[in-house]
Amino acid sequence: MSYDLVIVGGGVHGCTAALFAARGGMKVALVERGALAREASGVNAGTLTMQMTRVALIPYALRAHAMWANAREWLGHDVGVVVCDGLSLAFTEQEAQLLSYRAGKRREAGAPIDLISGTEAKSIEPGLADGVLLAGHCRVDGFANAYLTGLAFQRALREAGVDVLEYTPATGIEREAGGFAVLTSAGPVRGKRLLLAGGVWIEPMLGWLGIRLPIKTLVNQLAVSERVQPVMRTVVGIANGLLSLKQYPHGTVVIGGGWQGIGDRERGGVELVPERLIGNARLACHAIPALRAARMVRAWAGLEAETADALPAVGPVPGIPDAYVCGSVHSGYTSGPYIARLLAEHLLGKEPSLPLFPIDRLLAPATGREGLT
Ligand SMILES: Cc1cc2nc3c(=O)[nH]c(=O)nc-3n(C[C@H](O)[C@H](O)[C@H](O)COP(=O)(O)OP(=O)(O)OC[C@H]3O[C@@H](n4cnc5c(N)ncnc54)[C@H](O)[C@@H]3O)c2cc1C
Repeated sequence: MSYDLVIVGGGVHGCTAALFAARGGMKVALVERGALAREASGVNAGTLTMQMTRVALIPYALRAHAMWANAREWLGHDVGVVVCDGLSLAFTEQEAQLLSYRAGKRREAGAPIDLISGTEAKSIEPGLADGVLLAGHCRVDGFANAYLTGLAFQRALREAGVDVLEYTPATGIEREAGGFAVLTSAGPVRGKRLLLAGGVWIEPMLGWLGIRLPIKTLVNQLAVSERVQPVMRTVVGIANGLLSLKQYPHGTVVIGGGWQGIGDRERGGVELVPERLIGNARLACHAIPALRAARMVRAWAGLEAETADALPAVGPVPGIPDAYVCGSVHSGYTSGPYIARLLAEHLLGKEPSLPLFPIDRLLAPATGREGLT
């Protein structure tokens, strides 16, 4: 049998594109080497924020935030979304300047971020430390429980009639009359169109097509505390981006901020760097002093993809009709549902409501391999 669309990679991008393509009438197969959303899309910090989103992505992230806030409507299943205020803090003059600049740019792009004093910030977040000079305040913020993403999509995709092939690694792609054959451990999966949504593994996947698109792999560390009494009610960050902090309804506090661990695309996130976990935790306690009494119970690392210009790779694969790519979206959990829905609309022949991010700008010289493996 031949599908209308075969998607490789079951993170937030692959799953959302599959869902909307199937609802639009396509027969879709989704090939995932593990379980759905167990890489970046299942181990991320869950923050749904404008304050850390690249300026060019703000219009996308605002629409995606609205989708997450109504996840029950379009996804049909709960991912524990909490919509709350977000604060980005400046403790020094230098941070205040950075914050003013960044908040100004994001505001111009449509993010409703106001600059407020430390006193005003404390009235919004009583748990804050003293000494905040300036804060960016955004009402369009919040977080999800990323761990629930895979389960929610698994149910939604089955209901939409998508053939979900979990624990089925793709190993190559062949081009055939009328489309593609994705080679997998369970045999070829054939489709008229192909979408590569493999997160940091988009680079080797495009390599199967003879296309070289360098993707940087970030190894983001995160930590979570034991359950504690309520110590905060907003999403808290720092102007330089080195902190992201929120407390889940059941009491745990997730601490992140892009502090890097050790790992790569081949091995995954293999090692945490304790000094960086400690640095991250110190910043957290500096912002929310009540956290000093909390114990950290678990830490982990996940892989985030970044292109050379840190903007997404979303659109057709040049020179290979009917092949598409979707990924490398900074703060891609926040923006992912909207961006992948845009691509699904494009595949369904609709005029997308915002532009895609064509990948021509990112391509390195060809590897010399002709055609497909
Ligand atoms: C630790 C961490 C914290 C983050 N925090 C935030 C945050 O707070 N807010 C935010 O907005 N963003 C955050 N991000 C970024 C966000 O998680 C990612 O941008 C987003 O989830 C990427 O989704 P994706 O679908 O492109 O990739 P992924 O979720 O990585 O999905 C790619 C999928 O492809 C599959 N795959 C790979 N190779 C094969 C193969 N050969 N065959 C079949 N399947 C294959 C993988 O198993 C994987 O499931 C964070 C990222 C990390 C790592």
